[in-house]
Amino acid sequence: QQDFPILEIKDLYVNYGGIEALQKINLFVNNGEVVTLIGANGAGKTTTLRAISKIINPRHGTIMYSGRNITRRQPHEVVQLGIAHCPEGRRVLARQTVLDNLLLGAYIRSNQTEVRNDIQYQFEMFPRLAQRRHQLAGTLSGGEQQMLAIARALMSKPKLLLLDEPSLGLAPTIVREIFSIIQNLRATGVTILLVEQNANLALQIADRGYVLEAGCITLSGAASQLITDERVKKAYLG
Ligand code: ATP
Repeated sequence: QQDFPILEIKDLYVNYGGIEALQKINLFVNNGEVVTLIGANGAGKTTTLRAISKIINPRHGTIMYSGRNITRRQPHEVVQLGIAHCPEGRRVLARQTVLDNLLLGAYIRSNQTEVRNDIQYQFEMFPRLAQRRHQLAGTLSGGEQQMLAIARALMSKPKLLLLDEPSLGLAPTIVREIFSIIQNLRATGVTILLVEQNANLALQIADRGYVLEAGCITLSGAASQLITDERVKKAYLG
């Protein structure tokens, strides 16, 4: 049993050229939690996830994962340590099949028998993908592509999943399906940091949440408290 959070961000600052995208971000995620980051367009949600998965380097601050300082690690090292990033806009390889996309998600793994077993497991979790295993990813519906993006991220066997806007541009029935998959995932022990514009849905399934405004965290707390907070209601649940 570990007595420190699986993820802890301390005093994080990120710049893009002259623009300060994140300022003094402090947040933590406990093992087994679903934590959501909510905020308007451009608030810095995606940037926070990109700093954790090391797609970008912070100007200042520390990112601790399972007690290790990962602030200056390379992206593939972070994947190896157990963090997977499912990016916004799904980004599946359109001209590759569903199966090839899943294999790509397992690129850091060497035991091919285990990889095959895990592909079977993903097909059980996502039956729509099983039926379409030889279909080109670019011909999948938006919801199916989102499922593929999540399944691909899971192929690295993450302990911490960074999930960026899984509901973006999807019909309400598909969004419900995706959110029920997120709940199943948490039941299997995956810790999830969820970025969502749909604050209402995100706070319904999360344990805790952080509100980002113009690169700063302005509110945080139990999801059950945030969902009834007048400021959150006014700005994000309207
Ligand atoms: P959205 O929901 O629209 O993706 P977000 O909260 O995820 O919003 P970010 O994408 O993290 O916000 O962007 C935070 C700020 O950083 C914005 O002002 C954005 O314009 C800026 N930004 C993001 N990526 C870059 C980049 N590659 N170069 C320059 N500025 C960037």
